[in-house]
Amino acid sequence: MIVSQLKDFKCPNCGGRLEFDPKTQKMKCPYCDGTFDPEIFEEGEDYTVTSDTWEDDDAIVYTCRSCGGQIIADKDTAAGSCPYCGNPVVMTGNVSGIYRPKKVIPFLLDKKQAKERYRQFLKGKPLLPDAFKEESTIDEIKGIYVPFWLFGGKANARMWFDATRTRHWNEGEYMCTETSYYKLFRSGSVRFADVPVDASGKIDDLLTESIEPFDVSEAREFSDNYLAGYYADKYDISAEDSVAKANSRIANSTSSLFSSTTGMYETCVPSSSSITINEGRQDYVMYPVWLLNVKYAGKIYSFAMNGQTGKFVGELPTDKGKLIKIVLSVFFGVSAAMSILQYVLYMVG
Ligand SMILES: [Zn+2]
Ligand SMILES: [Zn+2]
Repeated sequence: MIVSQLKDFKCPNCGGRLEFDPKTQKMKCPYCDGTFDPEIFEEGEDYTVTSDTWEDDDAIVYTCRSCGGQIIADKDTAAGSCPYCGNPVVMTGNVSGIYRPKKVIPFLLDKKQAKERYRQFLKGKPLLPDAFKEESTIDEIKGIYVPFWLFGGKANARMWFDATRTRHWNEGEYMCTETSYYKLFRSGSVRFADVPVDASGKIDDLLTESIEPFDVSEAREFSDNYLAGYYADKYDISAEDSVAKANSRIANSTSSLFSSTTGMYETCVPSSSSITINEGRQDYVMYPVWLLNVKYAGKIYSFAMNGQTGKFVGELPTDKGKLIKIVLSVFFGVSAAMSILQYVLYMVG
């Protein structure tokens, strides 16, 4: 038996279900067009759902208050919608206590814009299988708030470099070269803030890193109102388990920053370094991502768009069947032309 909290967002005017609208940055009712400020809207109410666990312990069954339908969700799900009536719901137990994000960057780009950007991405790729172009596929694109840890800290670094400088001159009939070798040393400290690490094990880190950066100065104080109409998972990778990754990002940046101060040499390679990171701290935030997974020929192709900036990434296959068809039609085209030529020759002959 699991007791969980569910929340939905009823329109105070008409009782319709509100969703967060990226265009107006307000909560909007699709029925009466009423809009409400997400920072002060408090009409949504929690209600307790008691449910049996579903087969294993990983799924929870919620009952939709709007239509009575069953919403089956993963235990990590923090926001979703009823599959029967579309009622947006937030699993408040997954965005409270240690799971409550400090900040959220609300979606700035809506589903229509995400679909448009995907279509642009497909343009000029005639060999693309139809599976990627069907409207029913494109409509599956989902707005997901991805949990992130933002790390900050101070990197104290000491770095040594091996550098050379050369000089050329002519002495009578000889050309002389003089190479000087230098041992360079740099030390100092660099402060870092808001270094992001994907806190969701379900979404490929490479995908989320490819759509960075997010402008965290635009983040708002977290309210579950922003999640209305979107999907969200709580973090399943803890801050402790993300520290190593954050530190390696910080160390890489520090190293390239220090390298950039060694300009006047012909060659300059780091020979050794010691970087320690102190005063580490982390914040839990949610970032907006439009995500589309397309299954094709036994493989899943993922596309992601930064819901704030529109930066888009994805990988496309080429359809071998289509390629063969095009090659064949060219080949048949040529042989048809040849037989016409033969026919003309024959006629002339
Ligand atoms: Zn309304
Ligand atoms: Zn429902």
